[in-house]
Amino acid sequence: MVIVLLGPPGAGKGTQCKRIIERYRLAHLSSGDILRNERAGGTELGKEAQQYMDSGKLVPDQIIIEMMVGTIAAAGGNCVLDGFPRTVVQAAELDKELAEKGKKIDAIVNLVVDNDIIERRITGRRSCPVCGAVYHIDTMKPKSEGYCDKCKGQKLVQRPDDKPDVLEIRLKTYHEQTAAVVGYYSNSGQEILNIDAGRPVDDVIARVFKKIDSLVTAR
Ligand code: AMP
Repeated sequence: MVIVLLGPPGAGKGTQCKRIIERYRLAHLSSGDILRNERAGGTELGKEAQQYMDSGKLVPDQIIIEMMVGTIAAAGGNCVLDGFPRTVVQAAELDKELAEKGKKIDAIVNLVVDNDIIERRITGRRSCPVCGAVYHIDTMKPKSEGYCDKCKGQKLVQRPDDKPDVLEIRLKTYHEQTAAVVGYYSNSGQEILNIDAGRPVDDVIARVFKKIDSLVTAR
């Protein structure tokens, strides 16, 4: 099963993905996390991606497509895609790759949320550089302020691209390029489940589960 989760930065894609992969036993393939791991490992791919990521721009399509096609194949095609596709070129290439393997996207979930909510969520987000756990300075505080609950004594950091000036560019990029992916799927007749992601996490996930459950039953 292939599930695509669309939505701007801060829509809650990562949080929703965690719940989806637990329930349906799928691999969570986050293009952003994969790129951050490549950077942490000092690979050529990581070095190439760095300048784009730190300035809030998209990494070029051919780099991302190659990376994600390989990752999806390694997951046996059973995955939730988080942060990919982000351009119409990536979406078309994903459809082509899946079709070659006799597969298709089973569900497209589009998390819709206003810019002011996004700004609050993203600029307050802090993460642990060691284990990747994510916190929020107001809504998901660690037990000891500024430190990871799991990696004792490890200071939390703000992702460089979560700072307000870079976030502004990421949102602009999203509206200019990634929003068109929704149009691509509509035009190609693929059903999109639009969900108001400004609502509480449990409400959002309940709607997502309802949809995926109906697909699983129909298989
Ligand atoms: P994310 O964690 O999904 O917000 O991604 C962080 C950054 O990684 C983005 O701002 C882009 O620079 C890059 N990135 C992640 N996924 C993609 C993608 N599908 N296409 C291009 N760039 C990407």
